[in-house]
Amino acid sequence: MDLDAPVLVTGATGYVASWIVRYLLEDGRTVRGTVRNPDKTSGLEHLTALAEAHPGRLTLHKADLLDLGSYDEAMAGCELVIHTASPFLLGKVRDPERQLVRPALEGTRNVLASVNATPSVKRVVLTSSVVAIHGDNVDMKGRGAFTEDDWNTTSSADHQPYPYSKTVAEKAAWEICGEQNRWDMVTIHPGLVLGPSLTTASKSGSMTTMRAFTDFTLAGGAPDLAMGMVDVRDVARAHISAGFTPDAHGRYITNARSITMLQIGKILRKRFGRTYPFPYNKVPKAAFKLVAPVAGYTREFVDKNVGWPLEFDNSRSRSELGLAYRKAEDTIGDHFQQMIDDGIARRRPLS
Ligand code: NAP
Repeated sequence: MDLDAPVLVTGATGYVASWIVRYLLEDGRTVRGTVRNPDKTSGLEHLTALAEAHPGRLTLHKADLLDLGSYDEAMAGCELVIHTASPFLLGKVRDPERQLVRPALEGTRNVLASVNATPSVKRVVLTSSVVAIHGDNVDMKGRGAFTEDDWNTTSSADHQPYPYSKTVAEKAAWEICGEQNRWDMVTIHPGLVLGPSLTTASKSGSMTTMRAFTDFTLAGGAPDLAMGMVDVRDVARAHISAGFTPDAHGRYITNARSITMLQIGKILRKRFGRTYPFPYNKVPKAAFKLVAPVAGYTREFVDKNVGWPLEFDNSRSRSELGLAYRKAEDTIGDHFQQMIDDGIARRRPLS
């Protein structure tokens, strides 16, 4: 890998990608970031600031996942392509095929068609997810922690559409990669990514999740829902390590630990006190099931996920990518502090 060759990062505006861009620049690399609309007046401020801090080493290029060939120009001369662009929407999604599956699957195909058409590319790092490893928490019944050998076999466009979008996109990517031998691919599988955001414009499910701790959504309590969790800074480092470690190969679960919304609330309460609407109580599964559709969850989702444990084996990422995961207290605390600094977190009125 030529360290002077530019690195392409797709979806550069995004929550995860912004940290990848920042670390690449701090490491001395030259970066080409793709964005859907480089002329928009807000949402690019953090990238503009990074470009100013690293003169001549960050350029933004217009590209859309649904436009075949739109990545060709930005990719020319790159040896490493980090493909993060893909919508991450939680809760009720009106049209899963259009909003999630198509951009994830067709977008991955289009980006890899550009890779096939660009002779300089040697490696692709694809942002997948733990949700391409498993579908519902109940899938762990009777077995141990999920590993990179596991695939999500239970999601569909109707049930768990976001996990489905990530699974079909990653499968397609491995198929396309397997049809040639000029470039190789490494996939990164984060749990829910938390930690400070460089932008307030992201619509990522990570932001929706953390906002629920301040907009009173969870003031009455939270269901016992376990999920994977990892710091955005560690996820960014994982992508870069996967890109530049010659022996890196295959899939890497990139997850610090499992956590529930109540545990996140407890961590937040310890650092920020009781004047924010953090959840205290566990909402019983039966009660949550009744109100779930209003909160954007199906009753099938509640049945198959609430109350079930969830574990992932992250040993490959530690031994082969050299990751040392941050503590949840730092990830969650730093994220919430940044929401306070950005004026997003609201205090509960004192009674
Ligand atoms: P994000 O902030 O919403 O970023 C998503 C990016 O995708 C944005 O830059 C967006 O560009 C781009 N995008 C969406 N639709 C597009 C289209 N049609 N054409 C071009 N670009 C498009 O979300 P994120 O959390 O950073 O997610 C980034 C990646 O990490 C995704 O692949 C996601 O599946 C994966 N991931 C995230 C998490 C997590 O917890 N956040 C966990 C596991 C995996 P615009 O600015 O133009 O909208």
